[in-house]
Amino acid sequence: MTVEEKVLALREELNKHNYNYYVLDNATISDYEFDIKLKELEKLEVDNPNLFDPNSPTQRVGGQITKSFNTITHKNRMYSLDNSYSKEDLLDWEKRIQKMLGTTDIEYTCELKYDGASINLTYENGKFVRAVTRGDGVQGDEVTTNIRTIKSIPLILSEDFVADFEMRGEIILPLEGFNLMNEERVLNGEEPYRNPRNTASGSLKLQDSGEVAKRPLDCLLYQVVTNERKYKTHFESLEAARKFGFKVPHTIELAKSIDEVLDFVNSWDVKRHDLPYETDGVVIKVNSLQQQDELGYTSKSPRWAIAYKFKAEQVSTVLNEITYQVGRTGAITPVANLEPVHLAGTIVKRASLHNSDQIEKLDVRVGDTVYVEKGGEIIPKIMGVDLSLRPSDSEPTLYATHCPECGTELVRTDGDAKHYCPNEFGCAPQITGRIQHYISRKAMDIDGLGGETVDLLYKEGLVENYADLYELKVEQIIPLERMAEKSAQNMIDGIAKSKEIPFEKVLFALGIRFVGETVAKKLAKHFKSIDNLLNANFDTLISVDEIGEKIAESVLNFSKDEKNLATIERLKSYGIQLEISQEQLQNQTNKLEGKAIVVSGVFHQMSRNELKKAIEDNGGKVSSSISKKTSFIVAGDNMGPSKLTKAQNLGIDIISEEDFINMIK
Ligand code: AMP
Ligand code: ZN
Repeated sequence: MTVEEKVLALREELNKHNYNYYVLDNATISDYEFDIKLKELEKLEVDNPNLFDPNSPTQRVGGQITKSFNTITHKNRMYSLDNSYSKEDLLDWEKRIQKMLGTTDIEYTCELKYDGASINLTYENGKFVRAVTRGDGVQGDEVTTNIRTIKSIPLILSEDFVADFEMRGEIILPLEGFNLMNEERVLNGEEPYRNPRNTASGSLKLQDSGEVAKRPLDCLLYQVVTNERKYKTHFESLEAARKFGFKVPHTIELAKSIDEVLDFVNSWDVKRHDLPYETDGVVIKVNSLQQQDELGYTSKSPRWAIAYKFKAEQVSTVLNEITYQVGRTGAITPVANLEPVHLAGTIVKRASLHNSDQIEKLDVRVGDTVYVEKGGEIIPKIMGVDLSLRPSDSEPTLYATHCPECGTELVRTDGDAKHYCPNEFGCAPQITGRIQHYISRKAMDIDGLGGETVDLLYKEGLVENYADLYELKVEQIIPLERMAEKSAQNMIDGIAKSKEIPFEKVLFALGIRFVGETVAKKLAKHFKSIDNLLNANFDTLISVDEIGEKIAESVLNFSKDEKNLATIERLKSYGIQLEISQEQLQNQTNKLEGKAIVVSGVFHQMSRNELKKAIEDNGGKVSSSISKKTSFIVAGDNMGPSKLTKAQNLGIDIISEEDFINMIK
């Protein structure tokens, strides 16, 4: 077998496994074996750059940055859908189309209306070439690189479909993945995302496709757009698309009459709560493609389709009490404690009120009968108040003025939606919250120590901040509830092991407000040590790429505080990594500082990603498109001809891989 054959075979095999796993939900290989094969392919591709293929399964992990998304005019306009809300609406629609078609012989397809962001996928000769958002229907944004990371989308089709066609579908974020993302955000002290739909559509426009790859996005397809008339009906074309590798939900059904359509609607109005993703209605389409052609479009939407919207699930119940939760950053979240009520298959006792503005806007008061609605959020929302049931002695809600945990007066700074308890070092949930954050998986990843144990250690007076963890002795822990010699030793070992955690994670673990994982990485890379960071002034901080005023101020607040400085000194004395390791430093210089560099073509000595990393490690910036601001282009083999012309027109230097390597030596 030649190398090329080997590469092609591996790609085909991995594509098949992706398909089995992400489309059929039926894996036939372990994750471990999959990874081994993927690594093997990666290595072969690195060693044989001439075999590069943007549709290789190795490209699914992302990593490319899109600075600005190209606007693309749709070949076929992406229309909206007319809405209907009742049986009468549907019967009216049926009458209209019967009249236009001159027949009552019309068959319908019923599909769920998937609630996400529409996408148009273009395939040429069986290969995925482009993905564009709906935008205003006439033109949208090109998000190909990001879409490529969604593993249920086939990049190469298994069999001959029509040669060139577009596939329309919805990018969704299934509920389970959405909830996991939110749990992690809450753990990081970030506001949870409001709902899966906005999060899915926001994901499409992330600049870093590596970040998109991490999100559990999925794509459900609902329309084949082609001029070839290979199929007679919409249903047939979807079944064919499914066979060629697209994820077309099995919930679609044919209906012979509006009554049958209503059966579908009514059954899904109940069953939808068991679906792994959100749906806000049903889309009904005329099945015959020829009838679709005859009906055509209005200026806004196809005449051959209509959406039926489910009523949002809402119940009313009494608000018994408003309580306030304190997060690790001191942020206060008001919570509505409700008379328990059934809603969308669960019993609801609490609902979020978000912040004081929200309470004021809705004028919610204790004793009110409130409307509660459940979307994709983890906890339901209060939508409004039934004023007709308001008790006569009702009083407007006075927002908490003091912390429910420590009694300190709350503060709210301009531009902040939330109130904060400023008693950082004396407020129990803030103290334990910070330690819990410090030990969490993405931070210091300390094994053998959990959230409840932290609460216990704090209650027993053994820890007050994360530096105290390093002073703990086995003898102090054994007497604690549910602890034994072995578990105590595990905990101490786990804590000691955290001394190996690299600086960027330590920086994240410190829990500086607004310094999440990504910001911590940026700061660590730029400042290289905690001392440099803590000595930086405002101007230096905001000069760092992607560091804004809010983050800069928060870092300054942290470094102003004597207590924080003392804690850092202690961490240093225990041997925590508070600077970038020698190893990491060795490869980093400022040689490319201020340079915007474009990488194009195929390389031999380094992979594209290594090249980009080398640019960043040496202080340069990788940009994805050539402009007047481009400093120079590192070109490998087969640089795109349009890029070449553009570079020549703008008079931008083009250097080879060897030149580049010499430059950073
Ligand atoms: P609207 O945004 O309310 O005008 O509804 C039109 C949108 O519904 C389309 O752009 C699609 O993104 C979305 N949609 C979701 N599911 C379907 C489906 N099964 N068929 C057609 N459109 C759908
Ligand atoms: Zn407090």
